[in-house]
Amino acid sequence: MATDAAVNKLNELPPEMIEFALLKTTGALAPRLGRISLAGRKTILTPGFIGNTSRGVIPHISPDNFGKSVDLNGVYIPLEDFVEKHPQKIPPVFKYDVPEALRKFIALPDDRLLILGARRNPPIPSPVANTNTEVGLSTSVGFKQMSSEYYGAAVRKLQPDIVIGLADIPFGQASVGTKRKDKMSDRTELWLRDMIARKESLDKDEKSWAIFAPILPIERDLQSWYLEHIIDDMVDKISGVAIYDTYLLDDLPDQLHHLPRLSFHAPASPHELLRQTSLGMDLFTVPFLADATDAGIVLDFTFPAPKKDESSSTRRTLGIDMWHEDHACSVIPLSDGCTCYACTRHHRAYLQHLLAAKEMLGWVLIQLHNHAIMADFFTGVRASIQAGTFDADVAAFEAYYEPSLPEKTGQGPRIRGYQFKSEEHAKKDKKNPKAYKKFDDAKILELKAAHGQQPNKKPGMRDVIDDEALLGLVGMQNQDDGRMQDLRLEDDPKA
Ligand SMILES: [Zn+2]
Repeated sequence: MATDAAVNKLNELPPEMIEFALLKTTGALAPRLGRISLAGRKTILTPGFIGNTSRGVIPHISPDNFGKSVDLNGVYIPLEDFVEKHPQKIPPVFKYDVPEALRKFIALPDDRLLILGARRNPPIPSPVANTNTEVGLSTSVGFKQMSSEYYGAAVRKLQPDIVIGLADIPFGQASVGTKRKDKMSDRTELWLRDMIARKESLDKDEKSWAIFAPILPIERDLQSWYLEHIIDDMVDKISGVAIYDTYLLDDLPDQLHHLPRLSFHAPASPHELLRQTSLGMDLFTVPFLADATDAGIVLDFTFPAPKKDESSSTRRTLGIDMWHEDHACSVIPLSDGCTCYACTRHHRAYLQHLLAAKEMLGWVLIQLHNHAIMADFFTGVRASIQAGTFDADVAAFEAYYEPSLPEKTGQGPRIRGYQFKSEEHAKKDKKNPKAYKKFDDAKILELKAAHGQQPNKKPGMRDVIDDEALLGLVGMQNQDDGRMQDLRLEDDPKA
Protein backbone atom coordinates (compact mmCIF):
# COMPACT_ATOMS: atom_id res chain seq x y z
CA MET A 1 0.00 0.00 0.00
CA ALA A 2 1.29 3.44 -0.90
CA THR A 3 1.27 5.88 1.99
CA ASP A 4 -0.42 9.28 1.67
CA ALA A 5 2.96 10.99 1.57
CA ALA A 6 4.05 8.80 -1.34
CA VAL A 7 0.83 9.53 -3.21
CA ASN A 8 1.28 13.28 -2.67
CA LYS A 9 4.83 13.05 -3.92
CA LEU A 10 3.60 11.24 -7.02
CA ASN A 11 1.06 13.96 -7.73
CA GLU A 12 3.81 16.58 -7.71
CA LEU A 13 5.81 14.84 -10.42
CA PRO A 14 5.37 15.84 -14.06
CA PRO A 15 2.76 13.47 -15.50
CA GLU A 16 5.20 11.44 -17.62
CA MET A 17 7.78 10.94 -14.86
CA ILE A 18 8.39 7.36 -13.88
CA GLU A 19 9.31 7.02 -10.25
CA PHE A 20 11.41 4.04 -9.25
CA ALA A 21 11.81 3.49 -5.54
CA LEU A 22 14.47 0.97 -4.51
CA LEU A 23 12.94 -0.57 -1.42
CA LYS A 24 15.69 -3.02 -0.60
CA THR A 25 19.10 -3.74 -2.06
CA THR A 26 22.11 -5.47 -0.61
CA GLY A 27 24.81 -4.80 -3.21
CA ALA A 28 25.63 -4.50 -6.89
CA LEU A 29 24.94 -8.05 -8.08
CA ALA A 30 22.22 -8.96 -5.62
CA PRO A 31 18.44 -9.31 -5.73
CA ARG A 32 16.59 -6.10 -5.03
CA LEU A 33 13.07 -4.93 -4.29
CA GLY A 34 11.56 -1.92 -5.98
CA ARG A 35 8.42 -0.11 -6.99
CA ILE A 36 7.73 1.50 -10.37
CA SER A 37 5.05 4.17 -10.31
CA LEU A 38 3.59 6.57 -12.79
CA ALA A 39 0.72 8.94 -12.10
CA GLY A 40 -2.57 7.39 -13.24
CA ARG A 41 -1.19 3.86 -13.66
CA LYS A 42 -1.14 0.91 -11.27
CA THR A 43 2.09 0.51 -9.36
CA ILE A 44 4.37 -2.35 -10.40
CA LEU A 45 6.30 -4.07 -7.62
CA THR A 46 9.66 -5.52 -8.65
CA PRO A 47 10.97 -8.10 -9.25
CA GLY A 48 7.87 -8.56 -11.36
CA PHE A 49 6.66 -9.14 -14.88
CA ILE A 50 4.57 -7.40 -17.51
CA GLY A 51 2.49 -8.89 -20.31
CA ASN A 52 4.38 -9.89 -23.46
CA THR A 53 2.00 -9.00 -26.27
CA SER A 54 1.57 -10.10 -29.84
CA ARG A 55 -0.16 -7.67 -32.20
CA GLY A 56 -1.53 -5.71 -29.26
CA VAL A 57 -2.81 -8.46 -26.99
CA ILE A 58 -1.39 -11.09 -24.70
CA PRO A 59 -2.02 -14.17 -26.87
CA HIS A 60 -5.43 -15.78 -26.15
CA ILE A 61 -6.46 -13.03 -23.71
CA SER A 62 -9.13 -10.62 -24.86
CA PRO A 63 -9.17 -7.10 -23.41
CA ASP A 64 -12.14 -7.88 -21.15
CA ASN A 65 -10.43 -10.98 -19.73
CA PHE A 66 -7.29 -8.93 -19.31
CA GLY A 67 -9.25 -6.46 -17.18
CA LYS A 68 -11.09 -9.11 -15.17
CA SER A 69 -8.90 -12.17 -14.78
CA VAL A 70 -5.24 -11.26 -15.22
CA ASP A 71 -3.22 -9.67 -12.46
CA LEU A 72 -0.81 -7.62 -14.59
CA ASN A 73 -0.11 -3.92 -14.26
CA GLY A 74 1.73 -3.35 -17.52
CA VAL A 75 2.38 -4.64 -21.04
CA TYR A 76 5.22 -4.58 -23.53
CA ILE A 77 4.23 -3.72 -27.13
CA PRO A 78 6.58 -4.07 -30.12
CA LEU A 79 6.05 -1.49 -32.87
CA GLU A 80 6.91 -4.06 -35.58
CA ASP A 81 3.51 -5.68 -34.97
CA PHE A 82 1.73 -2.59 -36.33
CA VAL A 83 3.72 -1.26 -39.28
CA GLU A 84 3.52 -4.03 -41.89
CA LYS A 85 2.64 -1.77 -44.84
CA HIS A 86 4.99 1.08 -44.05
CA PRO A 87 6.36 3.13 -45.71
CA GLN A 88 4.06 2.71 -48.76
CA LYS A 89 0.92 2.91 -46.66
CA ILE A 90 0.10 4.64 -43.38
CA PRO A 91 -0.49 1.90 -40.79
CA PRO A 92 -4.04 2.03 -39.38
CA VAL A 93 -2.82 2.76 -35.84
CA PHE A 94 -1.36 6.09 -37.04
CA LYS A 95 -4.68 7.10 -38.61
CA TYR A 96 -6.36 6.81 -35.23
CA ASP A 97 -6.51 10.43 -34.19
CA VAL A 98 -7.09 10.38 -30.44
CA PRO A 99 -4.84 11.01 -27.43
CA GLU A 100 -2.82 7.91 -26.51
CA ALA A 101 -3.66 6.35 -29.85
CA LEU A 102 -1.91 3.01 -29.25
CA ARG A 103 -3.59 2.43 -25.89
CA LYS A 104 -7.01 3.15 -27.42
CA PHE A 105 -6.24 1.11 -30.53
CA ILE A 106 -5.53 -2.06 -28.53
CA ALA A 107 -8.15 -1.29 -25.83
CA LEU A 108 -5.61 -1.37 -23.03
CA PRO A 109 -7.23 -0.27 -19.73
CA ASP A 110 -6.25 3.27 -18.67
CA ASP A 111 -4.55 2.18 -15.46
CA ARG A 112 -1.97 -0.21 -16.99
CA LEU A 113 1.56 0.82 -17.90
CA LEU A 114 2.37 0.69 -21.63
CA ILE A 115 5.97 0.09 -22.71
CA LEU A 116 6.76 0.42 -26.42
CA GLY A 117 9.81 -1.02 -28.15
CA ALA A 118 10.77 -1.70 -31.76
CA ARG A 119 11.11 -5.49 -31.77
CA ARG A 120 9.18 -8.41 -30.28
CA ASN A 121 10.68 -10.28 -27.38
CA PRO A 122 12.37 -12.50 -28.37
CA PRO A 123 12.82 -10.94 -31.83
CA ILE A 124 12.95 -12.99 -35.03
CA PRO A 125 16.39 -12.45 -36.58
CA SER A 126 15.99 -10.28 -39.66
CA PRO A 127 17.97 -11.05 -42.82
CA VAL A 128 17.72 -7.32 -43.60
CA ALA A 129 20.85 -5.84 -42.02
CA ASN A 130 20.67 -2.74 -39.86
CA THR A 131 22.22 0.40 -41.34
CA ASN A 132 23.37 3.71 -39.87
CA THR A 133 19.81 4.98 -39.91
CA GLU A 134 17.60 1.88 -40.04
CA VAL A 135 16.90 -1.37 -38.23
CA GLY A 136 15.44 -4.55 -39.72
CA LEU A 137 11.96 -5.53 -38.53
CA SER A 138 9.90 -8.66 -38.96
CA THR A 139 6.32 -7.65 -39.75
CA SER A 140 3.35 -9.86 -40.51
CA VAL A 141 4.04 -9.54 -44.26
CA GLY A 142 7.79 -9.93 -44.24
CA PHE A 143 11.00 -8.23 -43.24
CA LYS A 144 11.19 -4.45 -43.47
CA GLN A 145 13.47 -1.65 -42.45
CA MET A 146 12.49 1.19 -40.17
CA SER A 147 14.44 4.39 -39.69
CA SER A 148 15.20 5.93 -36.33
CA GLU A 149 13.28 8.98 -37.51
CA TYR A 150 10.18 6.90 -38.28
CA TYR A 151 10.43 5.29 -34.85
CA GLY A 152 10.62 8.68 -33.16
CA ALA A 153 7.63 9.98 -35.11
CA ALA A 154 5.69 6.82 -34.22
CA VAL A 155 6.43 7.28 -30.53
CA ARG A 156 5.24 10.88 -30.68
CA LYS A 157 2.01 9.83 -32.34
CA LEU A 158 1.33 6.73 -30.22
CA GLN A 159 2.21 8.27 -26.83
CA PRO A 160 3.29 5.22 -24.82
CA ASP A 161 4.23 5.62 -21.15
CA ILE A 162 7.74 4.31 -21.69
CA VAL A 163 9.70 3.89 -24.90
CA ILE A 164 12.77 1.70 -25.30
CA GLY A 165 15.52 3.46 -27.25
CA LEU A 166 16.24 1.92 -30.63
CA ALA A 167 19.15 -0.52 -30.35
CA ASP A 168 21.45 -1.75 -33.11
CA ILE A 169 21.68 -5.45 -32.30
CA PRO A 170 22.33 -8.03 -35.05
CA PHE A 171 19.98 -10.66 -33.59
CA GLY A 172 20.64 -14.23 -34.58
CA GLN A 173 24.23 -13.65 -35.63
CA ALA A 174 26.42 -16.29 -33.99
CA SER A 175 29.54 -14.17 -33.73
CA VAL A 176 29.84 -10.42 -34.01
CA GLY A 177 33.19 -8.85 -34.86
CA THR A 178 34.79 -6.05 -32.86
CA LYS A 179 34.24 -3.52 -35.65
CA ARG A 180 30.56 -4.41 -35.80
CA LYS A 181 30.31 -4.02 -32.02
CA ASP A 182 31.83 -0.55 -32.25
CA LYS A 183 29.18 0.30 -34.78
CA MET A 184 26.46 -1.08 -32.49
CA SER A 185 27.36 1.31 -29.71
CA ASP A 186 27.83 4.29 -32.06
CA ARG A 187 24.44 3.85 -33.70
CA THR A 188 22.59 3.07 -30.49
CA GLU A 189 24.02 6.19 -28.87
CA LEU A 190 23.02 8.36 -31.81
CA TRP A 191 19.49 6.91 -31.90
CA LEU A 192 19.10 7.44 -28.14
CA ARG A 193 20.11 11.07 -28.57
CA ASP A 194 17.53 11.40 -31.39
CA MET A 195 14.83 10.09 -29.09
CA ILE A 196 15.79 12.47 -26.27
CA ALA A 197 15.94 15.42 -28.68
CA ARG A 198 12.50 14.53 -30.02
CA LYS A 199 11.10 14.35 -26.52
CA GLU A 200 12.55 17.77 -25.69
CA SER A 201 11.08 19.32 -28.82
CA LEU A 202 7.50 18.38 -27.90
CA ASP A 203 4.93 21.12 -27.58
CA LYS A 204 3.99 22.07 -24.02
CA ASP A 205 0.53 20.50 -24.18
CA GLU A 206 1.69 17.29 -25.84
CA LYS A 207 1.85 14.10 -23.78
CA SER A 208 5.44 13.13 -23.15
CA TRP A 209 6.96 9.73 -22.37
CA ALA A 210 9.78 8.21 -20.37
CA ILE A 211 12.83 6.69 -22.09
CA PHE A 212 14.63 3.45 -21.21
CA ALA A 213 18.15 3.29 -22.60
CA PRO A 214 19.14 -0.01 -24.23
CA ILE A 215 22.26 -1.62 -22.76
CA LEU A 216 23.89 -3.68 -25.52
CA PRO A 217 24.75 -7.38 -25.22
CA ILE A 218 28.49 -6.71 -25.66
CA GLU A 219 31.40 -6.30 -23.25
CA ARG A 220 31.69 -3.09 -21.31
CA ASP A 221 34.91 -1.87 -22.96
CA LEU A 222 33.28 -2.12 -26.38
CA GLN A 223 30.36 0.05 -25.35
CA SER A 224 32.28 2.19 -22.83
CA TRP A 225 32.06 5.25 -25.04
CA TYR A 226 28.26 4.85 -25.25
CA LEU A 227 27.94 4.23 -21.49
CA GLU A 228 30.11 7.26 -20.69
CA HIS A 229 27.91 9.46 -22.84
CA ILE A 230 24.81 8.16 -21.09
CA ILE A 231 26.37 8.98 -17.71
CA ASP A 232 27.77 12.36 -18.77
CA ASP A 233 24.87 13.91 -20.62
CA MET A 234 21.82 11.66 -20.68
CA VAL A 235 21.47 10.09 -17.24
CA ASP A 236 18.93 12.67 -16.03
CA LYS A 237 16.92 12.25 -19.24
CA ILE A 238 16.41 8.50 -19.06
CA SER A 239 14.14 6.71 -16.59
CA GLY A 240 15.42 3.16 -16.88
CA VAL A 241 17.56 0.69 -18.77
CA ALA A 242 16.63 -2.21 -21.05
CA ILE A 243 19.13 -5.02 -20.68
CA TYR A 244 19.77 -7.56 -23.45
CA ASP A 245 22.29 -9.75 -21.61
CA THR A 246 21.82 -10.25 -17.90
CA TYR A 247 25.24 -11.79 -17.47
CA LEU A 248 26.83 -8.47 -18.33
CA LEU A 249 25.01 -6.71 -15.46
CA ASP A 250 28.36 -6.70 -13.69
CA ASP A 251 29.47 -4.16 -16.32
CA LEU A 252 26.62 -1.74 -15.66
CA PRO A 253 28.15 1.50 -14.31
CA ASP A 254 27.28 2.40 -10.69
CA GLN A 255 25.77 5.69 -11.87
CA LEU A 256 22.95 3.73 -13.52
CA HIS A 257 22.14 1.49 -10.55
CA HIS A 258 19.25 3.64 -9.34
CA LEU A 259 17.33 3.03 -12.58
CA PRO A 260 14.79 0.22 -13.07
CA ARG A 261 16.08 -2.64 -15.25
CA LEU A 262 13.85 -4.25 -17.85
CA SER A 263 15.15 -7.60 -19.09
CA PHE A 264 15.11 -8.45 -22.79
CA HIS A 265 17.16 -11.53 -22.05
CA ALA A 266 14.42 -14.10 -22.68
CA PRO A 267 14.44 -16.72 -19.91
CA ALA A 268 13.75 -20.36 -20.82
CA SER A 269 12.54 -21.44 -17.39
CA PRO A 270 11.64 -20.13 -13.93
CA HIS A 271 15.17 -21.11 -12.86
CA GLU A 272 16.57 -18.56 -15.31
CA LEU A 273 14.17 -15.93 -14.00
CA LEU A 274 15.55 -16.62 -10.53
CA ARG A 275 19.15 -16.38 -11.77
CA GLN A 276 18.42 -13.02 -13.42
CA THR A 277 16.63 -11.84 -10.29
CA SER A 278 19.59 -12.87 -8.15
CA LEU A 279 21.78 -10.56 -10.26
CA GLY A 280 19.48 -7.60 -9.66
CA MET A 281 17.06 -7.60 -12.61
CA ASP A 282 13.77 -5.85 -11.86
CA LEU A 283 11.21 -6.27 -14.60
CA PHE A 284 10.60 -9.12 -17.04
CA THR A 285 8.51 -10.13 -19.99
CA VAL A 286 8.17 -13.91 -19.85
CA PRO A 287 7.92 -15.36 -23.39
CA PHE A 288 7.87 -18.97 -22.14
CA LEU A 289 4.41 -18.38 -20.65
CA ALA A 290 2.72 -18.18 -24.04
CA ASP A 291 4.95 -20.94 -25.45
CA ALA A 292 3.84 -23.29 -22.66
CA THR A 293 0.21 -22.30 -23.20
CA ASP A 294 0.38 -22.98 -26.95
CA ALA A 295 1.88 -26.39 -26.19
CA GLY A 296 -1.03 -27.20 -23.85
CA ILE A 297 1.28 -27.17 -20.83
CA VAL A 298 -0.16 -26.00 -17.53
CA LEU A 299 2.56 -24.50 -15.35
CA ASP A 300 2.70 -26.07 -11.92
CA PHE A 301 5.28 -24.56 -9.58
CA THR A 302 5.41 -22.24 -6.59
CA PHE A 303 8.13 -20.13 -5.06
CA PRO A 304 9.38 -20.92 -2.49
CA ALA A 305 9.05 -24.61 -3.40
CA PRO A 306 7.03 -26.86 -1.09
CA LYS A 307 8.97 -28.89 1.48
CA LYS A 308 10.81 -31.72 -0.27
CA ASP A 309 9.73 -35.23 0.60
CA GLU A 310 13.05 -36.73 1.71
CA SER A 311 12.04 -40.26 0.70
CA SER A 312 11.63 -39.31 -2.97
CA SER A 313 14.68 -38.67 -5.12
CA THR A 314 12.88 -37.55 -8.29
CA ARG A 315 12.34 -33.89 -9.03
CA ARG A 316 8.88 -32.52 -9.72
CA THR A 317 7.90 -31.32 -13.17
CA LEU A 318 7.44 -27.58 -13.78
CA GLY A 319 4.37 -28.12 -15.90
CA ILE A 320 1.64 -30.63 -16.71
CA ASP A 321 1.02 -31.63 -20.31
CA MET A 322 -2.74 -31.41 -20.74
CA TRP A 323 -2.58 -33.65 -23.85
CA HIS A 324 -1.48 -36.62 -21.77
CA GLU A 325 -4.04 -39.45 -21.72
CA ASP A 326 -3.93 -39.58 -17.91
CA HIS A 327 -6.13 -36.48 -17.86
CA ALA A 328 -8.88 -37.85 -20.12
CA CYS A 329 -11.18 -38.62 -17.17
CA SER A 330 -9.50 -36.50 -14.51
CA VAL A 331 -11.92 -34.14 -12.77
CA ILE A 332 -9.38 -32.37 -10.56
CA PRO A 333 -8.24 -28.74 -11.05
CA LEU A 334 -5.34 -27.98 -13.42
CA SER A 335 -3.02 -27.31 -10.54
CA ASP A 336 -3.48 -28.08 -6.85
CA GLY A 337 -4.26 -25.05 -4.71
CA CYS A 338 -4.39 -22.57 -7.61
CA THR A 339 -7.18 -20.02 -7.23
CA CYS A 340 -7.24 -18.77 -10.82
CA TYR A 341 -10.37 -18.56 -12.97
CA ALA A 342 -9.61 -21.83 -14.80
CA CYS A 343 -8.76 -23.90 -11.72
CA THR A 344 -11.78 -22.78 -9.73
CA ARG A 345 -14.28 -23.53 -12.51
CA HIS A 346 -12.96 -26.32 -14.73
CA HIS A 347 -11.14 -29.65 -14.56
CA ARG A 348 -8.39 -31.36 -16.53
CA ALA A 349 -10.65 -33.65 -18.57
CA TYR A 350 -12.59 -30.63 -19.86
CA LEU A 351 -9.34 -28.86 -20.73
CA GLN A 352 -8.13 -31.90 -22.70
CA HIS A 353 -11.43 -32.05 -24.54
CA LEU A 354 -11.12 -28.38 -25.51
CA LEU A 355 -7.56 -28.90 -26.79
CA ALA A 356 -8.49 -32.00 -28.76
CA ALA A 357 -11.45 -30.16 -30.32
CA LYS A 358 -9.16 -27.17 -31.05
CA GLU A 359 -11.53 -24.93 -29.09
CA MET A 360 -9.93 -21.53 -28.51
CA LEU A 361 -11.27 -21.57 -24.97
CA GLY A 362 -8.75 -24.29 -24.10
CA TRP A 363 -5.78 -22.01 -24.67
CA VAL A 364 -7.60 -19.07 -23.06
CA LEU A 365 -8.03 -21.03 -19.82
CA ILE A 366 -4.45 -22.31 -19.79
CA GLN A 367 -3.10 -18.83 -20.48
CA LEU A 368 -5.13 -17.35 -17.60
CA HIS A 369 -3.82 -20.08 -15.32
CA ASN A 370 -0.20 -19.74 -16.45
CA HIS A 371 -0.27 -16.00 -15.84
CA ALA A 372 -1.73 -16.57 -12.38
CA ILE A 373 1.08 -19.05 -11.58
CA MET A 374 3.67 -16.50 -12.70
CA ALA A 375 2.07 -13.68 -10.65
CA ASP A 376 2.16 -15.89 -7.54
CA PHE A 377 5.75 -16.87 -8.34
CA PHE A 378 6.89 -13.24 -8.29
CA THR A 379 4.88 -12.50 -5.15
CA GLY A 380 6.83 -15.36 -3.54
CA VAL A 381 10.13 -14.02 -4.90
CA ARG A 382 9.52 -10.58 -3.40
CA ALA A 383 8.51 -12.02 -0.03
CA SER A 384 11.65 -14.17 -0.05
CA ILE A 385 13.93 -11.21 -0.82
CA GLN A 386 12.18 -9.21 1.88
CA ALA A 387 12.73 -12.01 4.38
CA GLY A 388 16.39 -12.37 3.37
CA THR A 389 16.00 -16.05 2.48
CA PHE A 390 16.22 -15.70 -1.30
CA ASP A 391 19.44 -17.65 -1.91
CA ALA A 392 18.33 -20.58 0.23
CA ASP A 393 14.89 -20.56 -1.41
CA VAL A 394 16.43 -20.62 -4.88
CA ALA A 395 18.60 -23.62 -3.93
CA ALA A 396 15.53 -25.42 -2.57
CA PHE A 397 13.57 -24.57 -5.74
CA GLU A 398 16.33 -26.00 -7.94
CA ALA A 399 16.46 -29.16 -5.87
CA TYR A 400 12.69 -29.58 -5.92
CA TYR A 401 11.88 -28.97 -9.61
CA GLU A 402 13.24 -30.27 -12.89
CA PRO A 403 15.57 -27.82 -14.64
CA SER A 404 13.39 -27.20 -17.71
CA LEU A 405 9.78 -27.11 -18.81
CA PRO A 406 8.32 -30.32 -20.27
CA GLU A 407 8.58 -30.93 -24.00
CA LYS A 408 5.60 -30.17 -26.19
CA THR A 409 3.71 -33.30 -27.32
CA GLY A 410 0.30 -32.25 -28.68
CA GLN A 411 -0.64 -29.77 -31.37
CA GLY A 412 -0.79 -26.08 -30.63
CA PRO A 413 -2.97 -23.42 -32.22
CA ARG A 414 -2.18 -22.51 -35.82
CA ILE A 415 1.35 -21.11 -36.09
CA ARG A 416 1.62 -17.54 -37.37
CA GLY A 417 4.37 -16.06 -39.51
CA TYR A 418 5.82 -14.01 -36.69
CA GLN A 419 6.33 -17.17 -34.67
CA PHE A 420 8.74 -18.65 -37.21
CA LYS A 421 12.45 -18.32 -36.88
CA SER A 422 13.78 -16.78 -40.07
CA GLU A 423 16.11 -19.74 -40.74
CA GLU A 424 13.00 -21.94 -40.82
CA HIS A 425 11.75 -20.15 -43.94
CA ALA A 426 14.14 -22.10 -46.10
CA LYS A 427 12.70 -25.44 -44.98
CA LYS A 428 10.18 -26.99 -47.33
CA ASP A 429 7.97 -28.77 -44.80
CA LYS A 430 4.71 -27.26 -43.64
CA LYS A 431 4.65 -25.40 -40.33
CA ASN A 432 0.97 -26.26 -39.90
CA PRO A 433 -0.29 -29.73 -40.82
CA LYS A 434 -2.80 -29.72 -43.68
CA ALA A 435 -6.43 -29.78 -42.64
CA TYR A 436 -7.51 -30.98 -46.10
CA LYS A 437 -5.66 -33.10 -48.64
CA LYS A 438 -5.90 -33.48 -52.39
CA PHE A 439 -7.49 -36.70 -53.60
CA ASP A 440 -5.31 -38.82 -55.86
CA ASP A 441 -6.08 -38.93 -59.61
CA ALA A 442 -8.02 -42.20 -59.45
CA LYS A 443 -10.30 -40.83 -56.74
CA ILE A 444 -10.89 -37.62 -58.71
CA LEU A 445 -11.88 -39.61 -61.81
CA GLU A 446 -14.19 -41.75 -59.74
CA LEU A 447 -15.87 -38.68 -58.24
CA LYS A 448 -16.22 -37.04 -61.65
CA ALA A 449 -17.79 -40.21 -63.01
CA ALA A 450 -20.22 -40.22 -60.10
CA HIS A 451 -21.28 -36.69 -61.12
CA GLY A 452 -21.61 -37.74 -64.77
CA GLN A 453 -18.86 -35.33 -65.82
CA GLN A 454 -16.88 -35.95 -69.03
CA PRO A 455 -13.51 -34.37 -69.89
CA ASN A 456 -14.23 -31.42 -72.20
CA LYS A 457 -13.41 -31.96 -75.90
CA LYS A 458 -11.97 -28.44 -76.43
CA PRO A 459 -8.44 -28.52 -75.03
CA GLY A 460 -8.51 -24.81 -74.06
CA MET A 461 -11.57 -25.21 -71.89
CA ARG A 462 -10.50 -28.45 -70.27
CA ASP A 463 -8.24 -26.86 -67.71
CA VAL A 464 -10.82 -24.32 -66.66
CA ILE A 465 -13.46 -26.90 -66.06
CA ASP A 466 -11.05 -29.23 -64.38
CA ASP A 467 -9.98 -26.43 -62.07
CA GLU A 468 -13.56 -25.69 -61.13
CA ALA A 469 -14.20 -29.32 -60.49
CA LEU A 470 -11.10 -29.53 -58.37
CA LEU A 471 -11.92 -26.49 -56.28
CA GLY A 472 -14.53 -28.35 -54.35
CA LEU A 473 -12.20 -31.28 -53.80
CA VAL A 474 -8.90 -29.66 -52.97
CA GLY A 475 -9.90 -27.49 -50.06
CA MET A 476 -7.37 -25.26 -48.36
CA GLN A 477 -4.12 -26.29 -49.96
CA ASN A 478 -3.63 -23.53 -52.52
CA GLN A 479 -4.40 -20.74 -50.08
CA ASP A 480 -1.88 -22.18 -47.70
CA ASP A 481 0.90 -22.13 -50.26
CA GLY A 482 0.19 -18.51 -51.06
CA ARG A 483 0.52 -17.56 -47.43
CA MET A 484 3.89 -19.21 -47.13
CA GLN A 485 5.21 -17.31 -50.13
CA ASP A 486 4.02 -14.04 -48.65
CA LEU A 487 6.15 -14.62 -45.62
CA ARG A 488 9.34 -14.64 -47.61
CA LEU A 489 8.64 -11.27 -49.21
CA GLU A 490 10.59 -8.32 -48.00
CA ASP A 491 8.30 -5.84 -49.66
CA ASP A 492 4.80 -6.48 -50.76
CA PRO A 493 4.68 -5.46 -54.43
CA LYS A 494 0.89 -4.93 -54.20
CA ALA A 495 1.29 -2.29 -51.51
ZN1 LIG B 1 -5.01 -22.10 -11.99
